[in-house]
Amino acid sequence: MKDENCIFCRIANGDIPSRTIYEDDHFRVILDNGPATRGHALILPKEHYKDLSEIPEETAAEAMIVAKKVSALLVKKLHADGLNLVQNNGETAGQTVKHFHIHLIPRYENDGQHILWNPTHPTDEELDSVLKDIKG
Ligand code: AMP
Ligand code: ZN
Repeated sequence: MKDENCIFCRIANGDIPSRTIYEDDHFRVILDNGPATRGHALILPKEHYKDLSEIPEETAAEAMIVAKKVSALLVKKLHADGLNLVQNNGETAGQTVKHFHIHLIPRYENDGQHILWNPTHPTDEELDSVLKDIKG
């Protein structure tokens, strides 16, 4: 299903022009217009799924194959030193567009970005309690 009110549905299906770097039957990969770094791209499924919880398993698997392919292209063509895959779910996690997408963020030495997290230092008891909540 497409959602006429969803900007990424319209971009993914070619109703709004975009800087497309890859396209197949199920996905379009575009340049992010507010990039973290040079070559920051977004993998957009052509169907509307709001986030990881809605996307079918087969489409999620295909998206990862596209990520592998396009990441290699970006790193090679833009001479990146590394690349982050980022996928936000929910406003708390930083999702601003409610159409599943994967960020491909090429990284360059001293690019000044802070895409990683600040590690915390839980006790063994705290880690065990997390394990219990997840497995219990
Ligand atoms: P997120 O915060 O994970 O929902 O990411 C949304 C991303 O979409 C941001 O990095 C925006 O810069 C990008 N974005 C929003 N609108 C457009 C657009 N029309 N074309 C390209 N990128 C967009
Ligand atoms: Zn959509």
